[in-house]
Amino acid sequence: MPGLLLKKRPLSRYLKDYKHSQTHCFQCGKLLDRMALVFRGKVINKEAIARMDQPIDDDVWLNVQNELVALCRFCSEIAYNSNPSYFDIMAFKQYLFGQTEMSHSTIREYVVRLRRLDEMLVAHNYPADTFANGGNAQRTIDDLSSTLHSNYRIALRKYEQYLAWQKS
Ligand SMILES: [Zn+2]
Repeated sequence: MPGLLLKKRPLSRYLKDYKHSQTHCFQCGKLLDRMALVFRGKVINKEAIARMDQPIDDDVWLNVQNELVALCRFCSEIAYNSNPSYFDIMAFKQYLFGQTEMSHSTIREYVVRLRRLDEMLVAHNYPADTFANGGNAQRTIDDLSSTLHSNYRIALRKYEQYLAWQKS
């Protein structure tokens, strides 16, 4: 209708409504329980949302919405709260979701193991260039075999499968 002004509401109001309307994780498709809202690549918590109180209208909101992602706790932690140095854990996780039939809990287990392994490698000052070309999981297993629990070896082999898949 000509001359009709779009009603404005605070952005935070839109964000809260949006948050409550999301049911599944954008990355793994899991039903959302505790979720993280990501805006322009950053997790925004309740306090941050409350501060985003500038008035906007529906047109602006449509654009803002394109830059929002709803993630489950698990996916948001991997994506934004960890700094893995040896493995591409994010891509590994997406590989497990996309290319295998594993359940969500099994994938979680693999990812958690790989993250712990990553922490162990950091603690050992394991040479990072060993990973530079990828596919050196077996060597890492050999190097650390005295200290590695078999669970980690299994996760490492799975990661090796991911690297092989990525190359093919
Ligand atoms: Zn998820």
